[in-house]
Amino acid sequence: MTDLLNFSLPLLKDSSGRDREVKQFGLKKVEEVIYQHLFFDKDHRELDKEVLGKIDGSTKGRMSANILYYYGIKGKNANNKAMFRGIFKDISLQEGIEHLEKLIVQESSRGDIENLKKIITHLKNGIDREEFENDSLYLDEVDEDLNQSLNEETDLLIVDEVKTPAYSDKIRERKCGYGRNPKIAAEAILEAKFKCEVDEAHDTFISKKYKKPYVEAHHIVPMKYQYKYPNASLDVHANIVALCPNCHRLIHHAIDLESEAILELLFNGRASKLTNCGIDIDLETLLLMYKG
Ligand SMILES: [Zn+2]
Ligand SMILES: [Zn+2]
Repeated sequence: MTDLLNFSLPLLKDSSGRDREVKQFGLKKVEEVIYQHLFFDKDHRELDKEVLGKIDGSTKGRMSANILYYYGIKGKNANNKAMFRGIFKDISLQEGIEHLEKLIVQESSRGDIENLKKIITHLKNGIDREEFENDSLYLDEVDEDLNQSLNEETDLLIVDEVKTPAYSDKIRERKCGYGRNPKIAAEAILEAKFKCEVDEAHDTFISKKYKKPYVEAHHIVPMKYQYKYPNASLDVHANIVALCPNCHRLIHHAIDLESEAILELLFNGRASKLTNCGIDIDLETLLLMYKG
C-alpha cells in the first residue's frame, strides 16, 4: 500500500506543444494512455501496442510518448525509469485523482498546473464514462435478477450489518474499482416495492423484463469511494436505493442545487442503516463526493 503521508509526485514539465498525436487518436485513447501509464506501469512501447493498436512495433512507442509529453509527463528518475510510470500503481483511480487535486491546492506553483488540470479532467472522464457504460450492463443484470426473484417468490430477508468489501485483482482493472453484485440491488428494489424512494408517487413505466414498475438501483455512497471504507462494503442494501429513471439521471447529471436536495432526502432516510453497516459518513461529506 502507498504511504499517503510520504507520497510525493514528480514535477510536470511544460507541454511539448506537439498535439498531432493527441488530435489523431482522440480523447478516449489519450485518456487511456495516461491512465495506463500512471496506474498500470505501462511504458510507451506497450501503450502504442495495447492502447493505440500499433501492433507491428514500427512506431517504437513514439505515439504514446508524444501524447505523454504533450501533458508534461516526461523525464526519468534516478533508476533511468520514466518518472511518472506506475506512480499510482497500488491505488484506485479515484484515489489517484485526489492526490493530483491536493497537489493543485497545496502547491499551485509546483510544476505545470495547466497540465495537471488537463490530466485530472481526462482521468475523471474515464471514471464517468466507465460508470455510465457499466451501469447499463449492471442494470440489465439487476433486471434479470428481479425477474428471477419474482418468479421464485422467495422471502426477502434483509439484515443491515458490516460486510467485507468484495475486492479482486480483476476488478482493479476497472476504473470504478469494486464490483457490484446485481442480486443485492435486486433485493433493495424488491424491498422498495418498485417505488421511487424520492417520492412514491413518481411516475414510471412497466418493465418489459419483470412486469413491474421500472426503477433503477443507485448506490448513495458511490462505489468509487470504496477505498475510503476498507472494512465495510458499500455494496449493501442500506446503501442502495430504488429510483425512477428521472431521479436517477438527476442525481448523476443535474446541477448541484437540484441533486443535493434529493441526496439529502435519501441520506436522511438511510443514515442509521448506513451506520449499522459500518459506513460512517455525514451529509456534508456525501455531498462533496458528488460535486463536479
Ligand atoms: Zn447511479
Ligand atoms: Zn423519482
